[in-house]
Amino acid sequence: MKYSQIIKKHLPINKKRTGKKLDCQYITIHNTGNPKSTADSERRYLENPENTNATGWHIVIGGKEAIEAIPISEVAYHAGTSAGNNTSIGIEICDSAGLAAEKNAIELVASLLIQKGWGIEKLKTHKDWSGKYCPHIILPRWNQFKNDIAAEITKQKAEQGTTVEKNIKEIEVFDKAGRSLGILKIEL
Ligand SMILES: [Zn+2]
Repeated sequence: MKYSQIIKKHLPINKKRTGKKLDCQYITIHNTGNPKSTADSERRYLENPENTNATGWHIVIGGKEAIEAIPISEVAYHAGTSAGNNTSIGIEICDSAGLAAEKNAIELVASLLIQKGWGIEKLKTHKDWSGKYCPHIILPRWNQFKNDIAAEITKQKAEQGTTVEKNIKEIEVFDKAGRSLGILKIEL
């Protein structure tokens, strides 16, 4: 699943989505910490009247879908420190969907890094910012997760390379007597 395939269900401007511009420099990875929630239920919880704090996230990724709640150009409160909130996109990976959600996350984060022209050095954990043990499922194999994203970047770039339309010019070539020698194809 690439960033272009996510479902955008943006929050109205409120406590969680203030509309403040993000000085985007990193991507922060989280696990939801909820063993049962889906991407859809996490998104609905953001608008639950009982959920009155400012905590939010940009994108939640489940086994079947990914939803953007706050535009990635704006600040969301997910990192536990103002440094993390003001400079990073917060991505939540659903605990409930296991490796299916992680696979979607690897693809989506890779596509986002390519879009930004970044590499895996731009990835942070929630723990990097605040010390909270998050993403709790992925932290024990964080380096492997980053390596999987690096491999996925290489794969997606190769796919892009083969699907780029080539600008080919065809020129018909003649001999001195004016007989056609055939078509010469030049890749510009
Ligand atoms: Zn977290």
